[in-house]
Amino acid sequence: MAAFRTAAAVVDALPEGELERRISTRTLTDLRGIGPKTGAAIVQAHAGDVPEYLARLEEAHSELVPLADDVAEFRSTLRGDLHTHSDWSDGGSPIREMAEAAIALGHEYMALTDHSPRLTVANGLTAERLERQLDVVAALNEELHPFRILTGIECDIHVDGSLDQTDELLGRLDVVVASVHSDLRAESAAMTARMLAAVANPHTDVLGHCTGRLLIPREQREGRRQRPRPESAFDAEAVFSACVEHGTAVEINSRPERLDPPLRLLSLAVELGCSFSIDTDAHAPGQLDWQDNGCERAVETGVDVDRVVNTWTADELLDWTTG
Ligand SMILES: [Zn+2]
Ligand SMILES: [Zn+2]
Repeated sequence: MAAFRTAAAVVDALPEGELERRISTRTLTDLRGIGPKTGAAIVQAHAGDVPEYLARLEEAHSELVPLADDVAEFRSTLRGDLHTHSDWSDGGSPIREMAEAAIALGHEYMALTDHSPRLTVANGLTAERLERQLDVVAALNEELHPFRILTGIECDIHVDGSLDQTDELLGRLDVVVASVHSDLRAESAAMTARMLAAVANPHTDVLGHCTGRLLIPREQREGRRQRPRPESAFDAEAVFSACVEHGTAVEINSRPERLDPPLRLLSLAVELGCSFSIDTDAHAPGQLDWQDNGCERAVETGVDVDRVVNTWTADELLDWTTG
């Protein structure tokens, strides 16, 4: 099924009209990540049929449920998601639609973590816009109770390791995910120092997609195209040890094109005693169920459920992020 997930992510990332054009010109399989079988399944799904290959697969392996039991059980312990985007930054949907999708999945909370100002390509929020968003979230929370939208940010980590938002605002947010989005090819010593500073920052709760790798190409806003890229180089043992020391959770990013950290680094983080947050980094409501990907990897590397902060209740979680 991994091939289908990859193919789905590739199709998801296509610009408007591109899927139709590729179907009519029979050039779907020119795309990296789409083979003849997945290509045929996409064409059939697009025409509204149950893809023949999928149907045959299901018939032949009716005992093969989409998720292994242990993964499904792990997934069922998650109460929320700590990394999501709305159309305030580079997501495609209003906050309310993201929250309603999270409610439909059975989540109790969702941290709204739109981008910080420096990430202009992702329409990052200035301090003023973030203040306005906090009011919007407060009003939605009254309406959606007992579901809870936790206020938050995905904050850029500057090259010097500082965070891309005012201290005052960072202090008011429920959840701060800190991520590297620039200078990804820096040499290891510089990247390590940068990440260590961010992890030690008392405002930081979660270290987002730590290696920055992209497994397949993807489209961004305004037709910008990102090519696959390798992991950033950094001293993972030092960074993960600092996460343990400062109580910063390591994110298990579930986006199919990220799947970050890679398994060997995830195993190292487990061994060093890190806490984790299994997040989708969803930019659309349908992506909120990508946590399956992260749970698969957590089970594979022996992550203990108790070490996953988003298995906790919202109150427990807030005790931790403000503590
Ligand atoms: Zn990010
Ligand atoms: Zn993100």
